[in-house]
Amino acid sequence: MECWPQRPLICLPGLTMTQTMQAVRYIGPRQKFQLRAVAIPVPGPGQVRVRIAACGVCRTELHLRDGLLDLGRRDFTVGHEIAGTIEALGEGVDASRLGQRVVVYYYQGCGDCRYCRAGDEQLCPRPAAQPGFTTDGGYAEYIVVRTQNCVGVPDAVALTHIAPMGCAGSTAVHAGKMAAIKPGEWVVMHGFGGVGLALMQYAAAAGARTIAIGLGAEKMDFATRLGATATIDAAEESDVAGRVAAITGEGADVVFELVGTAASMRLSAAMLRRRGRLVMVGYTADSFDIHPIELIVRELQVLGSVGSTLQDLHDVVGLVASGAITPVIDRTMALADFEAALAEVDRQTPMGRIVLTP
Ligand SMILES: [Zn+2]
Ligand SMILES: [Zn+2]
Repeated sequence: MECWPQRPLICLPGLTMTQTMQAVRYIGPRQKFQLRAVAIPVPGPGQVRVRIAACGVCRTELHLRDGLLDLGRRDFTVGHEIAGTIEALGEGVDASRLGQRVVVYYYQGCGDCRYCRAGDEQLCPRPAAQPGFTTDGGYAEYIVVRTQNCVGVPDAVALTHIAPMGCAGSTAVHAGKMAAIKPGEWVVMHGFGGVGLALMQYAAAAGARTIAIGLGAEKMDFATRLGATATIDAAEESDVAGRVAAITGEGADVVFELVGTAASMRLSAAMLRRRGRLVMVGYTADSFDIHPIELIVRELQVLGSVGSTLQDLHDVVGLVASGAITPVIDRTMALADFEAALAEVDRQTPMGRIVLTP
């Protein structure tokens, strides 16, 4: 069948498709995801349909599955690091977008609140869509999204490489901006997964000196090869904060907390110099427990950073295109192998992102 159904759609020539596609569905907290056949979505006015080439596997999928993150919605397709090609246009979309290679921004705010007006759709209290979190995401063959959520990708950049930038990369850029990194500052990545990899390169591009802290010699060698000024293998070092103090002189200017256990958060605060900034990005079920005197007498700042703005995603695509950020892909896997991919992420074994190729 050609380009079903009969709606005001423009499709790429020669396109044929069945009416259903494979998608990995979130059923509810503490339940396994399910691979199911679902209807191929149809773009409405102002929307496009993207043929998904790649979708990164983010730790957030584990948080959804385990019930740590529950935004109240059920029965949707997971995955929010989405790249592909625009292959069908809804009403009113400029024909020039057809065939464009894109990475998808995964927030769509209400468009009307003070946060949306300022471009901070990640803070919108009434989001219209949030692919992979509350509405259908990228562990599927197709997705329909608002046209401006599709950020063009230069031909020289592979879709499998840009997909993880949709979350890991854009989250890193947003957190980096939140921290207001200045040239010469010491910046610690406490945790060295997908976000930490991109953050380290972002901080270096901003002129900072970087310390990567992760588990295992192999991962830390990898950080050194990617340009870390110093690395600390937390599996071997018994006094991580002491090592950071020795390297930096007093302590770090900025620590990005990318692990989120009670122990790692406490350690992150201990690594800072006076008036240092602690930026919370990763989380687990644990709480951050610190006596206020530690914040008061050292004038520490603690910030949260969630997701990214659409501009942050545009920025990270530019940084990848210029070579300032090199996305690191551990491996690609078939959509049907999503359980094995999630198990690898759970074990923290991948060097960089695992990317599903639907
Ligand atoms: Zn809003
Ligand atoms: Zn993510």
